[in-house]
Amino acid sequence: MELHQLTIHELQELLSRKETSALEITQAIFSRIHAVDKQVRAFITLTEEEALAKAREIDNQGEYGRIAGIPLGLKDIFCTRGVKTTCASRILENFVPTYDSTAAGKLFADKGILAGKLNMDEFAMGSSTEQSAFFSTCNPWDFTRVPGGSSGGSAAAVAADEVPFALGTDTGGSIRQPASFCGVVGLKPTYGRVSRWGVIAYASSLDQVGTFAKDVRDCALVMNIISGKDPLDSTSVDLPVPDYSASLDGNVKGMKIAYPREYFQPGIDSQVQEAIKKALIKYEEMGAIVDEVSLPHSEYALPAYYLVATAEASANLARYDGVRYGLRDFEAANVIDMFSRSRAEGFGEEVKRRIMLGSYALSSGYYDAYYLKALKVRRLIADDFSKVFAKFDLIVSPTAPTVAFKIGEQIGDPLTLYMNDILTVPINMAGLPAMSIPCGFHEGMPVGMQLVGPAFGESTLFKAAFAFEQNTDFHTFRPALEVK
Ligand code: GLN
Repeated sequence: MELHQLTIHELQELLSRKETSALEITQAIFSRIHAVDKQVRAFITLTEEEALAKAREIDNQGEYGRIAGIPLGLKDIFCTRGVKTTCASRILENFVPTYDSTAAGKLFADKGILAGKLNMDEFAMGSSTEQSAFFSTCNPWDFTRVPGGSSGGSAAAVAADEVPFALGTDTGGSIRQPASFCGVVGLKPTYGRVSRWGVIAYASSLDQVGTFAKDVRDCALVMNIISGKDPLDSTSVDLPVPDYSASLDGNVKGMKIAYPREYFQPGIDSQVQEAIKKALIKYEEMGAIVDEVSLPHSEYALPAYYLVATAEASANLARYDGVRYGLRDFEAANVIDMFSRSRAEGFGEEVKRRIMLGSYALSSGYYDAYYLKALKVRRLIADDFSKVFAKFDLIVSPTAPTVAFKIGEQIGDPLTLYMNDILTVPINMAGLPAMSIPCGFHEGMPVGMQLVGPAFGESTLFKAAFAFEQNTDFHTFRPALEVK
């Protein structure tokens, strides 16, 4: 194995035995990026010089631990001091923040090394990374397919061994769906578990920061670093952060696992369903108790999500007016004209569609009929989950209805694209933690299994995911990139 192929914990071990250095690892990562990113196109910005300088500094200090000396990638939605943060939008194309988002800052404080900023759907709106204002990212398993989205650059970079881990955000599935499409581990924590300070907002009651990694152990390790209360984010919750690595004991004996019948319907590819059913049998063999349940309001989750998310987005995106941030139209005749021309030029089609939908749903006369009703549905969805978690430890389902689809296949049809989120949005509506782990292949593409836990039950997810990983080898497969 070469350095760029290793996990964080494998690199850590080499570092602690002084068998490699932060500089060697960082150089290996950049030569990998230079070799494959022309085709994968995961990165918007590379920070090579700064990364090499930091690696030298860490080697000089000579102390390693957790992620010291390990390169990482950040979705380009995380503000990074002195490093361009675009949110894959023309409106922020030249935006250079003066501060680090809390989650990124924690990784840097632990001596993680930023390799660069990763592509995404503009303002995290999308499921394929084709809605980036700059370029599409390719799925490393098949360059003609999408990596998923909106954190597609993060998932693709980890799958292509360009970085050992990367952060993303998940509002309705944007960590789990790309993790599933690219065959890596992706975790969306409980709402409030990780600070979102300095992360560009899409839909604030749904957005959550999480991580992509090559295996469950690495995912737990990163969560240990980024979790916890942040005085700068009043929605972050002041609950003790357990040592997630301590739950990796491989034991699921007696664990009660539910699978919701609504998540195994004809709209979900039968081969994808098959892979999950096999995984459930595996869990039974390992001593878990598996049973079917119902989440009766599931079918309303997607429409309700697209009302809540667009309503919040329309409010959050009002700040981009050409005055305070980013792109400004200098030709405008007056200030109102300047607002509208800057926004017209700066936002892409999907972002505009959502601002219009959201503004409509919030307008007087429609507020009660749409937005308020969606909030009521949201409560019913959360109650469905609470009822299941009164009796079960964990819910298991497919992460996405299909494996990764072809680039261009769905982009002309927003509603089809929205359907990708049908199995992930209910979890954001309820604020629960969920993870996607590789559990099979179909058409040569990875299939992801979604594990959902009760609020702040991340340890249960890690325990169950690790047990599955220990008893299967899906996480060991990597795409055979044909580098041209
Ligand atoms: N695909 C969903 C959307 O477009 C989810 C995006 C996300 O989780 N950021 O809203």
